Amino acid sequence: MSQLLQVENLETKFRTADGKLPAVRNISFSVDKEETLCIVGESGSGKSITSLSIMGLLPPNGEISSGSILLDGDNLTEKTEEEMEKLRGNTLSMIFQEPMTALNPVLTIGYQLREPLIIHKKMSKKEANKKSIELLDKVGIPNPKEKMAQYPHELSGGMRQRVMISIALACEPSLLVADEPTTALDVTIQAQILDLMNELKEEIGMGVVFVTHDMGVVAEIADRVMVMYAGEVVEIADVESIFENPQHPYTKGLLNSVPDVDDETQELEVIQGSMPGLDEEITGCRFHPRCPFAMETCKQKEPPLFEVTSDHSSKCWLQEVKQDGNSGAITRS
Ligand code: SF4
Ligand code: MG
Repeated sequence: MSQLLQVENLETKFRTADGKLPAVRNISFSVDKEETLCIVGESGSGKSITSLSIMGLLPPNGEISSGSILLDGDNLTEKTEEEMEKLRGNTLSMIFQEPMTALNPVLTIGYQLREPLIIHKKMSKKEANKKSIELLDKVGIPNPKEKMAQYPHELSGGMRQRVMISIALACEPSLLVADEPTTALDVTIQAQILDLMNELKEEIGMGVVFVTHDMGVVAEIADRVMVMYAGEVVEIADVESIFENPQHPYTKGLLNSVPDVDDETQELEVIQGSMPGLDEEITGCRFHPRCPFAMETCKQKEPPLFEVTSDHSSKCWLQEVKQDGNSGAITRS
């Protein structure tokens, strides 16, 4: 598989009354074609800000202060707003959490689907109409021809989200960025939409960045997983390693807070404490105030991202202890 997206040393800051504060702190990751990278973490971890940074859709007080975002080798951080607009809905698509706010309430479904095809793919209205009906059919919308003439409020939440997905996929983007796209939906519709995204990923060969706080969703859709905490990447690995061999205490905490449906007696373990605010200075490991394994070093020195295997890294001093114990060798990256 070839590389599609490469994010290097990305830092995103917000201007506040207390000065510029970092919400994303020097993170690096990549996504291949036909690969889904899930970004997980509690709210405030920086996962949505990472996705908005990629899309060039940061709120007015946010800015990318350093680093690069390469899409097929093209640096998105150097693009003008006009150039980004051309990319969005064409090469680069996004699905938001709340479909009602992302769809235009006064325009028909048909209009909203045809528009990007006419603008970006230079289709005639007739061609765009035909393609739109095909797309609605593909996302499992019954009677797609009739739905074309309807307005967003005439559809159920699940149908609207499917419409959003078909709009996002209309121009066959190279990269789809999805931020909690199924959170508001009931589990049956959620499962259908995740299946569909998996199918389409392979069919059109796109890469997917999927933001979620739900480890159940991660298990359904991820090829690789990036765990974020307080603006940093704390663990990144293929999906099997995250579930079967998690290294970072925060990742383990997230996994323990997933309810086991077969065990009714199980108490949900939650990670004690809460995510630090943007303005909170924390020395050493940013997770140390909440970490059950924190050592003296953790309070003083920031851990590097240790390599566990070639496709698995963990930003935790425990890795050094383990590696010292195993071979005496310390691998840092
Ligand atoms: Fe916990 Fe220390 Fe690892 Fe941070 S570096 S996660 S405090 S053990
Ligand atoms: Mg969010």
